[in-house]
Amino acid sequence: MNTSKLSRRRFIRNSSLAASAAVLAQRLWGADAPATPPAKKLGVALVGLGSYATGQLAPALLETKLCELKGVVTGSPAKGAAWAKNFNFPAKNVYGYDTMDRLADNPDIDIVYVVTPNALHAESVIKAAKAGKHVISEKPMATNVADCDAMIAACKAAKRSLSIGYRLHFDPYHQKMMSLAADPNFGPFTKMSGENGFTLNGDQWRIHHPLSGGGPLMDMGIYVVNEACMATNANPVAVTAKERPKLRPDFFKDVEEALDWTMEFPGGVTATCQTSYVQNYGHFHADSAKGWIDFPSAFNYVGLQLNTSNGKVAFPPYRQQTLQLDGIVQSILDKKDSIVPGELGRRDMIIIEGIYASAAAGGKRVELKYT
Ligand code: NAD
Repeated sequence: MNTSKLSRRRFIRNSSLAASAAVLAQRLWGADAPATPPAKKLGVALVGLGSYATGQLAPALLETKLCELKGVVTGSPAKGAAWAKNFNFPAKNVYGYDTMDRLADNPDIDIVYVVTPNALHAESVIKAAKAGKHVISEKPMATNVADCDAMIAACKAAKRSLSIGYRLHFDPYHQKMMSLAADPNFGPFTKMSGENGFTLNGDQWRIHHPLSGGGPLMDMGIYVVNEACMATNANPVAVTAKERPKLRPDFFKDVEEALDWTMEFPGGVTATCQTSYVQNYGHFHADSAKGWIDFPSAFNYVGLQLNTSNGKVAFPPYRQQTLQLDGIVQSILDKKDSIVPGELGRRDMIIIEGIYASAAAGGKRVELKYT
């Protein structure tokens, strides 16, 4: 859906939160949008043409106002040629992973968006930065903090922005949750719980540690980690975690199958969390002294709803990835810091490393340091 259509749509006014929801939407799709879009949309090259790039990012890039798909990096020249034809960009804008350095000579491409298996993000991000491009890396940013540091350093050295594909930061429901948390008449949240998982079947890179860096925590649990930090606007000071006994040990050989963990935030605030590759769920709940929010399907792309002690919040349909892409590009055009910078991805990797360290130590409390 075109976002300009969204800005013209009326909001569903069936809740006591409708007025503030309308103000938020105006900020999202109205007042903050550029009066006139740039003369030339920024060109994006997708790296890795798998299910997320194909099913979500490419369709979003047909809707974005500030950027468009102008190239791809793929291991398959035939696939690249098909994408060039389908998305109407020149065949010269198809690259292999081993020819990414040539992006430096291509003014069609302003931004490189890395959508490969987790452990391969760092390599492509660093190549893109060295080619002088702004970079977006999918979540998790990498599979360890050292790689995050190298990615941040490469983008800084190249004077290019680095963002993480954290789509929830651009989603109106999640933004509404954050604004309620910051509202002294509603927040702050003191107790949270969340879970995110799906049933994984079929052999793929996600169950192989060298490519994934871990199991459902890296893939799905990271959303719960991120959401709890968004809900508190703070970083956890400590974590405790326990891996669940495996129901399918023959399948999940070198990654966890399911994990429970707790995050402790300053002031005694807690989040109790779960992730799994053998359960389909996605939910987030937060309580404050003055109210509560409850988010069924909290981490889905579509069909979100937010229930609160003040009533339901409802927004018209939108595509998260369209808002995310235009939001990141807007920050690049404005020469402002990204709201989902590499440092945020690194922060989450520190928390994830702490969770794995606690699970490996049988649930020992692990204090987190962010330096
Ligand atoms: P996928 O397996 O469908 O696609 C991965 C792509 O990487 C494929 O095109 C594959 O050919 C390519 N690739 C390059 N080198 C590879 C190698 N050595 N082994 C395997 N594949 C290789 O995966 P996906 O679901 O598209 O996930 C890709 C990334 O996007 C992951 O980091 C994932 O966490 C992230 N993701 C994010 C979201 C989100 O909502 N933000 C959703 C899904 C996936």
